Amino acid sequence: MDYKKAISQPIFEIIGRTADELNLDTYVIGGFVRDYLLKRKIPKDIDVVAVGSGIELATQLASKLPKKPQVSVFKNFGTAMVKHDELELEFVGARKESYHRDSRKPVVEDGTLEEDQKRRDFTINALAISLNKKDFGTLLDPFNGLEDLENKLIRTPLDPDITYSDDPLRMMRAIRFATQLEFRIEASSLDAITRNKERIKIISKERIVEELHKIMLCPTPSKGFSLLHKTGLLDIIMPELTALQGIEEIEGQRHKDNFWHTLEVVDNISTETDDLWLRWAALLHDIGKAPTKRFHKKIGWTFHGHEFVGSKMVYKLFKRLRMPLNDKMKFVQKMVMMSSRPIILAEEHVTDSAVRRLVFDAGNNVEDLMTLCEADITTKNPKKQRRYKNNFKLVRQKIKEVEERDRIRNFQPPVSGEEIMDTFNLKPSKEIGIIKEAIKEAILEGEIPNEHDAAKNFMIKKGISLGLCPK
Ligand code: ATP
Ligand code: MG
Repeated sequence: MDYKKAISQPIFEIIGRTADELNLDTYVIGGFVRDYLLKRKIPKDIDVVAVGSGIELATQLASKLPKKPQVSVFKNFGTAMVKHDELELEFVGARKESYHRDSRKPVVEDGTLEEDQKRRDFTINALAISLNKKDFGTLLDPFNGLEDLENKLIRTPLDPDITYSDDPLRMMRAIRFATQLEFRIEASSLDAITRNKERIKIISKERIVEELHKIMLCPTPSKGFSLLHKTGLLDIIMPELTALQGIEEIEGQRHKDNFWHTLEVVDNISTETDDLWLRWAALLHDIGKAPTKRFHKKIGWTFHGHEFVGSKMVYKLFKRLRMPLNDKMKFVQKMVMMSSRPIILAEEHVTDSAVRRLVFDAGNNVEDLMTLCEADITTKNPKKQRRYKNNFKLVRQKIKEVEERDRIRNFQPPVSGEEIMDTFNLKPSKEIGIIKEAIKEAILEGEIPNEHDAAKNFMIKKGISLGLCPK
């Protein structure tokens, strides 16, 4: 079978012609070929391997393209990148590699195509299609990657212990591809990951997190996280999460397994949102439960204050994993901190004032918070499931009503500090703060509407009760 159709874009013909002029055997390889064969969305980054100098090929190609694009050369890696329209063309010379135990930086030498394919991570990523005129469109597949694609199998070209030990990032990539493509990891590969898990420690946190994000953005992230758990990688990367695993029983009282519950919540939320950080919030929403777990004879298991402890843990975890300590982190913290609020609301009678307080505290994140709480419903009891869902619907409805009426979101005090000072002829003092707080409380409690005149009347009464005298 020939694969000319895969490389029908004109750019491949131009690359092939350039390669012929330079007398370089040249192939498109890796993600592009894999995704084409899987009928996935064709990636914008295209990897080209030349038996010889990839940099020379890139330079020659760029001079031929109408826009004469710049060539970014990474001499240390022997690679070069050329942008062409939407595409990022990545050129590399075929190479063979040998590794030291303490680093993922290999010693690189020129090699044949097959040697190059052998040092790639998985058979499905080692498929190459020739671009030279003599064999344009021929698939080169020495490790049966095509068969693995059909069988949906992640397998390494070499002995998996060697592949993973050489570059432990591949362990994360195996799990990420299994999750993204819904493939199975070959048993011996999975065993090798488990054996080599400690080697993940030589990989930079940034690279690990990049893979975690990709797993997180899959339709069913739990698949990746259960593989990370099964192989022992998760225990090294995020021990806070694995600490949630297990069910304890004392005097016949059990609590749920918060690890598997968490994974269910992440899958649930992934059907509702593609927002990476809201998904992270789902992953971390219960992490405070391990350190706060207690057993009380009368009431059973409790996790008092787990939201507060959890939000502190978010900061530590982000810091340790070198994730950004910015507004994204603050958002995750806020979601974790507030994650039980709508639940308490929905379990009891939903009052307007409770809803107003929720909107006041959550501000613009109130919808995200509701989405998180709805995803948090994992009860297998259909009656309870229905009741909780209906209650949350009611909360959402009330949020809308309250919002239309009271505009609590991004609350601005209807009476300013200056007006209070002016009314009572006051200098800046603590009374002003007390009055402002009382106005806010009265609005949240529904005693007065969120309007200037009502708030001013209230302010005068409150001032008098504090012994102040209006002008
Ligand atoms: P995606 O772009 O979706 O992440 P990809 O397979 O294109 O998938 P890239 O990181 O773009 O992945 O790498 C391109 C190719 O380079 C891969 O298909 C694979 O052949 C090879 N490769 C990438 N990283 C490694 C690695 N750590 N070890 C061995 N080969 C790798
Ligand atoms: Mg790619």
